[in-house]
Amino acid sequence: MSGRVVPAPATGRGDPAVQRLVQAAFETIRSRYVLARHQIAAAILDADGTVHVGLHVDAMIGRAAVCAEACALSAARLSTDAALVAVAAVRYPKPTEPPEARLVPPCGLCRELLLDHAPDLTVAINGSKGIELMPLKGLLPHKYVGTKWAACAAPEATPTQTRH
Ligand SMILES: [Zn+2]
Repeated sequence: MSGRVVPAPATGRGDPAVQRLVQAAFETIRSRYVLARHQIAAAILDADGTVHVGLHVDAMIGRAAVCAEACALSAARLSTDAALVAVAAVRYPKPTEPPEARLVPPCGLCRELLLDHAPDLTVAINGSKGIELMPLKGLLPHKYVGTKWAACAAPEATPTQTRH
């Protein structure tokens, strides 16, 4: 954890749920930041109003790293079957950078992953009027659609069904 004072990203006077989401991601990375190990945290809001956080886990081999959004998705699914409404991710500055935490959009892999599990998810982005939510589909208009899950139960299946 850094001893620097890094303010949270400015959320303006927008939607309180968005502010809570961004604040949760910021507080997570502010408290768990480790240079080259944990640089981003994500928060996912579910339809019941619960926020689930995840922490980016870096690795010596870059492709072994796991994004914060994937960790937040896992955390959400560990505790609820509720629909997932919105995601926000905050990147904490390195010690050599200006002390500015900033909102970052999901990487390409996370766009695919999140849309696989939450096709109606919105994402917090820096818009022209401050932080706003936009449909994640808008960031990935031509998502890959495979056939792997065609014969499986939908992710929204009842909790009593066996999952594999
Ligand atoms: Zn990612």
